Amino acid sequence: MPQTSPLILKITRSGQPQTWVTSERAAIDLCCGKVAWSFGVSGITLRGGVNALGVRSELRIPSIIATRNESRCYHESIPFTRHNLFARDRWTCMYCGQGLPLAKLTVDHILPTSRGGRHVWQNTISACFACNHRKADRTPEEANMALLGVPYIPNRFEYLYLKNRHILADQMDFLAKGFRNLRP
Ligand SMILES: [Zn+2]
Repeated sequence: MPQTSPLILKITRSGQPQTWVTSERAAIDLCCGKVAWSFGVSGITLRGGVNALGVRSELRIPSIIATRNESRCYHESIPFTRHNLFARDRWTCMYCGQGLPLAKLTVDHILPTSRGGRHVWQNTISACFACNHRKADRTPEEANMALLGVPYIPNRFEYLYLKNRHILADQMDFLAKGFRNLRP
């Protein structure tokens, strides 16, 4: 996601990561009393208007905020989409290791769908056009093409890490504790 300033990590009161929000969105939550507690040594200072005395208002936004109202939608599993799959595989062909943009990546079914392979996280991997074409209707073993990584279902800690390329150090510390498949 393109962004100019760091995003704020929104978590539940029980410490489950929910989503990334802009600092402006976090400021609204803070001002409306929706934040139960917060932490993080880093953060963002939002600057407001100048008052009659010539003093500019400032609001310090912590890097991690825990909200009072837990939104149910964030407890659902991570959507299985092309974009999320490519993010899981770090925008890399998992056969040749080439880093590629969205338009140059394809979804490869490890066990081909024509042979009963399912369209699920555990049976799919990012591949460039050339590798996908070369592998064709075969398993990696049959095609003699080694996989560079094991396919997995990302959890929400991993998903939020993969969604944001500008994570602050304390947000990273928080998310890394929940990693099951990733190494930071
Ligand atoms: Zn490739």
